[in-house]
Amino acid sequence: MGVKVLLVEDDPSIAQSVVASLTTAGLEVTHVDSGQGAIDAVAAVQPDVVLMDLGLPDMDGLDASKTIRETSSVPIIIVSARGDELDRVLGLELGADDYVVKPFSQRELLARIRAVTRRGADTAPASSSPSVVGSERLVIDERAHTVFLDGEEVVLTAKEFDLLAYLATEPNVVFRRNDILEHVWDTNWFGTTKTLDAHIASIRKKLGSPDWIQAVRGVGFKFVEVAQ
Ligand code: CA
Repeated sequence: MGVKVLLVEDDPSIAQSVVASLTTAGLEVTHVDSGQGAIDAVAAVQPDVVLMDLGLPDMDGLDASKTIRETSSVPIIIVSARGDELDRVLGLELGADDYVVKPFSQRELLARIRAVTRRGADTAPASSSPSVVGSERLVIDERAHTVFLDGEEVVLTAKEFDLLAYLATEPNVVFRRNDILEHVWDTNWFGTTKTLDAHIASIRKKLGSPDWIQAVRGVGFKFVEVAQ
């Protein structure tokens, strides 16, 4: 089965070329041209990834993404026309998984899609590798792709999950920024440092305390069990 992409783009010429190239690459593309269309299509189509334009006729792409995020952890790649909009994207701690800036090459777009959807295509981990990591209060199940805090499910985006699961494999051990970026995000690109900080902030917020992931100045981050 091909990867299902939901393309949210109101510019017909951009939409046409993206649909053509992704379809040629073997992906299954559903195209909508509005924010409401995107919200409806996430429920109807159950895409593997959403490509979200920011400037839409009926609402801001960020608002559409936030609404989608309330009910779905589907990876969202923000497609922005201007680099300086990205500060806004990250500042909102939206939980977007990645972004590309227009104009982008089709190759770059495909690489981004592959990176955020790779998890779904992965084969099951070897049976010797632990499926559940974390701590007494926080249970991270890598096979079921779920996180429970004190028995309550915490809904994370795909990248937030990867990041938390990675840090939690070794509690109290400091992971270097570069190692985190390399492990959780594959490519080295200009936005990753800010993206990492935005994802850390979002995870902390969702876990209800900043103490779960502690920053070690000049080095990186560590996962720490928080007492109740
Ligand atoms: Ca637009």
